[in-house]
Amino acid sequence: MLHTIPTSTLGPLGEAMAHAVETCVHCGFCLPACPTYRELGQEMDTPRGRIVLMKEVLEGTLPLAAAQPHVDRCLGCLACEPACPSGVPYRDLISPFRALTQSRVQRSLGEKISRFITAQTIPFPARFRIATAFGRIGKMFRPLLPARLRPMLDLVPAQVPPAESWPAVTPARGERRARVALLTGCAQRVLDPDINTATIEVLARHGVEVVVPAAQGCCGGLAWHTGDLRAAQAFARRNLAAFPADVDAILTNAAGCGSAMHEYHLVLRGTPDEARAEAFRHRVLDVSVFLHRLGLRELPANPRPLKIAYHDACHLANAQGVRREPRALLRAIPGAELCELTNAHLCCGSAGTYNLDQPEIAASLGEQKARAVIATGATVVASGNIGCLTQLRAHLAKLGSPIQVRHTMQVLRDAFGDER
Ligand code: SF4
Ligand code: SF4
Repeated sequence: MLHTIPTSTLGPLGEAMAHAVETCVHCGFCLPACPTYRELGQEMDTPRGRIVLMKEVLEGTLPLAAAQPHVDRCLGCLACEPACPSGVPYRDLISPFRALTQSRVQRSLGEKISRFITAQTIPFPARFRIATAFGRIGKMFRPLLPARLRPMLDLVPAQVPPAESWPAVTPARGERRARVALLTGCAQRVLDPDINTATIEVLARHGVEVVVPAAQGCCGGLAWHTGDLRAAQAFARRNLAAFPADVDAILTNAAGCGSAMHEYHLVLRGTPDEARAEAFRHRVLDVSVFLHRLGLRELPANPRPLKIAYHDACHLANAQGVRREPRALLRAIPGAELCELTNAHLCCGSAGTYNLDQPEIAASLGEQKARAVIATGATVVASGNIGCLTQLRAHLAKLGSPIQVRHTMQVLRDAFGDER
């Protein structure tokens, strides 16, 4: 697409945004893949439409306010990227555009409060745990609260598990085959800390020594995807310093975190840390990819057949191209049957804070995904992202489904049974 974007005035991310715009040939192959187009049926809520809107804002021919609602409605699911025959790097446009325009966006007081609360709680496990306790109290007063804040309360789980912590170093069982460092996440540590426990156990059983750096923090994904570049840079720098060099890989077990860490080179573009960020991101791997490359050891025989539905987290499948590895791991469980979901490429509607920002679309996508899971007849649904797991739990519960919702590493850990 031809453009007149003044890249030299847009800072270090200007070139990346302009490149994404000029790669788009306006063909429309991405439209059927886009969940918001399927929901709303409007050109301006498609990848192609958003690219045009953002281009015109960057060129200075369209007021930001005209584009903003459509940019806000983008899930950031990146389903448009694999669907695009021209290879448009949509991610290089959407997050930088949000970062560039964030300070000029007009938001209602309710939106500002909601955004402030999420930015100040979710990335910090101790604060987030306290916030969930307040949220449970707040639920009692739900009808009295502004409509904008109610979706936030709906996401607060009835209970959160007790806090867990993990040793700084968990030794490999048997002969050491590898040494890795693990990002333990922030929301995940509060909502389902057993995911980290399961991950460490599965890795240790496979001869992997697991380091959990004490100085690590949030991946910065929430800040980056909501346009808070300064906060995203601070989180990225903290992790660059926290993770050791003497490991074979830096592992993530939350797709959103892994995807954000793979974008540290964009987050820190034009800063003295850009080169370090570029090197760092190449060391980041999802745990399913690492384990698949390492080779899964033989699992004990399973007397009960297990029917597992697998949900592709967008930030694993679309952002990191990881589809095959988690499926292969789950298929390796003796007695397991893996079920594919109808419209597997569609986002479940979790998408970071999307449930809070766009509750109607998020609820519709969440219900569709839960119905697709139920239709498989599976007893367990596995995925690799805490946001998706939380969304699936909420919507399966609403539909009265008893299907268990588990992280891929939890399913694998459980497949070892009582074997020690
Ligand atoms: S990221 Fe997802 S919601 Fe946004 S334009 Fe692409 S497919 Fe549509
Ligand atoms: S498929 Fe790619 S090139 Fe075609 S309109 Fe969509 S983003 Fe542009």
